Parts: sequence; structure tokens; C-alpha cells
Amino acid sequence: MVKRVAILTDLEGVAGVVSFLDQTFPDARYFDDAKRLLTKEVNAVVDGLLSAGVSDVLVMDFHGPGGIWFEDLHPRARLLHGRPLAPWPRLASVIAEYDAAAIVGQHAMAGVLTGNLSHTQSSRTIDSYVLNGRPIGETAQFALYCGELGVPVIFLSGDTDACHEADELIPGITTVAVKQGLGRGCAISLSAESARSALREGSAAAVERHRIRPIDPLRWDGPYVLEKRFYFVEDADNATRAAGVERVDARTVLLRGESIQDVIYR
Ligand SMILES: [Zn+2]
Repeated sequence: MVKRVAILTDLEGVAGVVSFLDQTFPDARYFDDAKRLLTKEVNAVVDGLLSAGVSDVLVMDFHGPGGIWFEDLHPRARLLHGRPLAPWPRLASVIAEYDAAAIVGQHAMAGVLTGNLSHTQSSRTIDSYVLNGRPIGETAQFALYCGELGVPVIFLSGDTDACHEADELIPGITTVAVKQGLGRGCAISLSAESARSALREGSAAAVERHRIRPIDPLRWDGPYVLEKRFYFVEDADNATRAAGVERVDARTVLLRGESIQDVIYR
């Protein structure tokens, strides 16, 4: 039974949010409005989950500077937030207590042609992440991290390219596209109201689907090699200051590990 669900939230895959400079960077002039849009999408997902029999929802605010407008958060949800985020092993012990995970407001990985606000971790520095030869974005990072903890990701919302990425990665996942990317700074959004009703229905359906045909936690065979390619040489220089980071070429470094947790969020 799916009773406890953890929701990872991001800001760039929300209907009505289309600009880094004006909406998602912490000094953006419409940052607070963007946070309200995300929070209402999250609330719609919480409603959907509760209607499908989920009783405990933890919202994990993972947008870089934070993306939840606290006062508007669903009364039945709790919020994991604050920066710097707690170390990953401590977050892992929280996530491991949940039956399933969901992702709301996700964007496509860096370098996707039509992915609206596409990036991987840093929109200003990262060209690509490649894990064991396969390009990955933030969806794969989180799904693999949860997967190693035995927690399946059963739902994702974002732009069409983010949904496509999740569908390819996680067989059986339920996705809801709230906007169609036309470019990194341009998209066709559903109205806020339509997006929220699609999210309510989609998240409830995800729980039902998972009950009928359980989704496996995402696991890839190890050992793991994560290659990070930066836009600028100096960022690769900086990355090599951390222990265990190997230099591949001027703009590329790599990390090796026996477990996903060793490499995926380093
Ligand atoms: Zn993100």
C-alpha cells in the first residue's frame, strides 16, 4: 500500500514559469510569484495523492534557493526546506521512510532542443552529465538515488520534454505535462487552473496504477562512473579540488563509485 509519499519540487517545470532571469533566480523580479505558482501545483498533487488514499505527504523543496511559498502550502503537507540542504546521508534516511516518491515542476536535462529552462543542476555551468555512458538529468539523479533506497518514483510533472525523459527512464511512471517547451526561454503553458486539475487527476491515477502494477525502484548496475562536462575550463578546475575527482579533459571531470550515493549528488 502507498501510504507515505515524498514529493521533490523544482521551479523550472511549472506552468507559467518560463524565464530564469525573471522568475527562477533568487533575485528575479517575479520570483515570489513563481513560487506561488509552484506551491499551488504541489497542492494539487497533494490533493490527488490524498484522494487516492495516501495519508502522509512530505514536500521536499529542492529548487536551488528554495521554491515553496510557505504560507500557501497544503494544510496536510509537511515541508523539508532550508539551505544549505542537510548532507545527503541524512536526507536519505528521511526519504527511505517513504513508500514512493513524486517529482513536481521538473525540467529536461541540459542540452535538450526544445526543453523549456532545461539544465542539469546549474543552468550557468553544466553542459552535461553522463552516467555509465548514458546522458542523465535531474530526474535520473533523483530516481536513481531513491531507487538505491528502495523507493520508486511513480509520478512526475513538468514540461513535455521532462515528461518524455521520465517516461524513457521509468517504465510505468505517470507523467503530466503542464507546458510544452518551444525553446529554453519559451513554452506553451496550460492555464494555471487546467494545470492544477490535470495534476490532481494525474497524481491520483499514479497511485492507482502503482497499486495495480507496482513500479520498480530505478536501479542501474554498478560500479558507477559519472562524467560532468562544464561550459568553462575554470569550473572544471574548481571541481577537481574535491577528493576523488579525476580530470578527463579541459572541461570534463569524472567521479567513480560503487554506489549511486557515492557519485550522483557530488
Ligand atoms: Zn532543477
